Amino acid sequence: MLIAITGIDGSGKSTQIELLKKFLEKNKYSVAISKAYGKAEEFFLAPFFQYWDSLAITFIFQGLHRQQYISALKEIKNGKIVLADRWDETFLSFHSRFGFLAKHQKLREEWNKLAFESLIPDLTFFLDVPPKVASQRLISRGKNFLDEGDENYQKQIRKSMIKSLAGRPTVFIDGTKSINEIHKTIVSELSKKLKKPKINKN
Ligand code: ADP
Repeated sequence: MLIAITGIDGSGKSTQIELLKKFLEKNKYSVAISKAYGKAEEFFLAPFFQYWDSLAITFIFQGLHRQQYISALKEIKNGKIVLADRWDETFLSFHSRFGFLAKHQKLREEWNKLAFESLIPDLTFFLDVPPKVASQRLISRGKNFLDEGDENYQKQIRKSMIKSLAGRPTVFIDGTKSINEIHKTIVSELSKKLKKPKINKN
């Protein structure tokens, strides 16, 4: 099973993924986290991004997305619940607005298919947070190398993400609620989809 948690930078994705992983493991589910890039990639890639061509960067990221798909698929086949920190909605939303692919819808969709092979999450949780709130959270947490966009950029990404999720099984959650309230909503929605072992709500 593939579960995605998505939203703009600072919406609380990693926080909820960690909580959900702990919860599921406590309830005897086997879980894997799926993320296309993190600290290791930041270390290697950040120095190049200042002067690399944007299309070259797109190729790199599409490689990372492809590997995310391959690794996630392996874990799904092993019977794990895969918790993805973003899936292809992020690729689609970013590239429908910015860079070379923004003007090439067909190419964008074909690249997306190449990387993710049309594998859509069984359920996506969209943590909806106003860009202003998310940006304040990022300042407190400390930004990473991709958390660069300003509020206007985040507004556009939020809109496109919602558009990219149309027609997919998605639960929209008010991400300004407390961490615990959001976690409870996620558990409650997910438990409708889960088979044995039964979830223990305590
Ligand atoms: P993301 O992975 O979406 O970029 P994080 O999970 O890293 O976001 O959260 C960004 C910051 O916001 C962290 O410092 C985290 O503790 C805080 N945070 C996450 N969820 C909430 C929430 N519901 N309310 C207040 N702060 C939150």
